[in-house]
Amino acid sequence: MSDAETLFERIIAREIPADIVYETDDTLAFRDINPQAKTHVLVVPKKRYRNVAELAAADPRLLAEVVTTAAKVAELEGLTRDGYRVVFNTDEHAGQTVFHVHAHVLGGEQLGFFGRYSGQGG
Ligand code: 5GP
Repeated sequence: MSDAETLFERIIAREIPADIVYETDDTLAFRDINPQAKTHVLVVPKKRYRNVAELAAADPRLLAEVVTTAAKVAELEGLTRDGYRVVFNTDEHAGQTVFHVHAHVLGGEQLGFFGRYSGQGG
């Protein structure tokens, strides 16, 4: 896969299947294939930026739409009563693996603390 195209562009183009939960003109939300919580949805802008910092610098309106879509997903998935987490992994130390900016929306159960590498994959 070239640097110019990531897996998520292929999901956005419907070239590979995903369990889509919500869509706007400029964003797409779909379930993570390897969920880290009872509910784990990814929100991506359809236009590709490498990470959240690049998105924020280039198109703050689109970043706002990504966050608004994450909030909508939380509402649709019934997460707003007990709360949820929104995460943008950014580059190597955060373990970013797909270089098309995405928000992880996690919830549906009590989440653990996070931060330091546990030595067990996260
Ligand atoms: P990152 O580690 O870059 O923050 O997150 C990438 C996420 O994409 C991971 O949580 C991973 O499970 C998810 N992922 C990787 N491949 C696929 C796929 O083919 N389909 C879906 N729905 N999620 C994927």
